[in-house]
Amino acid sequence: MAITPEQSIEIKKQLLAQVEKLPQEKKEEIKEYIKNLNEEQLEEFLKQNKIEMQNSSSSPQEKSLQSCIFCAIAKNQVPSYKLAENKKSMAILEINPLSKAHSIIIPLEHLTIEKLPKSAMSLAQKLTKKIKKKFKPNDIKIETSSFQGHAMINVIPIYKDVSLKKQKADEKELKSIQEKLQAKSRAKRAESKKAKEKKESRLPVIKMKIP
Ligand SMILES: [Zn+2]
Repeated sequence: MAITPEQSIEIKKQLLAQVEKLPQEKKEEIKEYIKNLNEEQLEEFLKQNKIEMQNSSSSPQEKSLQSCIFCAIAKNQVPSYKLAENKKSMAILEINPLSKAHSIIIPLEHLTIEKLPKSAMSLAQKLTKKIKKKFKPNDIKIETSSFQGHAMINVIPIYKDVSLKKQKADEKELKSIQEKLQAKSRAKRAESKKAKEKKESRLPVIKMKIP
C-alpha cells in the first residue's frame, strides 16, 4: 500500500498525537523524527512499528473493541435509532426499553464511566427536556452504567401508574418515538463532524520506537 501525501499528513498528525502521550524525555526527539519522514519512510516506519492503518489488527484489545456493540453503533456498523449527537457522544433509543422513550447516551469512544465526557451528560439533559415536552412523563431518571466496559447514560422516563419493565420494543413504535425526539436542525453538521472524527481515529493506539 502506498501512502499518498494527503494520508501522510493525516497519519503524521495521528502519530504526533500519540507521541504526545509518551514520557517527556523522548517525546521531542520522536516528534522531530516523524515530522521529517517522507512518504516512503513513513510507510517503513509504520511497518517497523507494526502500525496498521486499517482495522485489520488482530490484537486481543482491538478485537474486544470491535465486538463492543456500542462501539459498533458509534461507527454506524450496527443500525440504531439515533436521536442526537454531539462531538463526543450520541443519543439512541434503547431497543429493550424499561418505559416508553427510554434512551441511552453513549460516548463515541470506548470509555469507562469515570471518563464519561461532560458533553455526554449535557446531551442527556437536552434529551430529558425533549422527552418531558413530547411524552410528559411524571419524572425522568438519569442513570450511568456500562455495558461491555462501554459507559452509557440511561434516560428513563417514569410514567404515572406504569411500572418499569424491560421489554423488546416494537419497531414501528421505536420509529415513531425517534421521529418525535430526533434533533433535525443540526443533524447534518453533526454527521459531517462525525465522519471526520471517524477518519481521524482509524489508527490504533501504538507504542513507538525509533528504528
Ligand atoms: Zn465500546
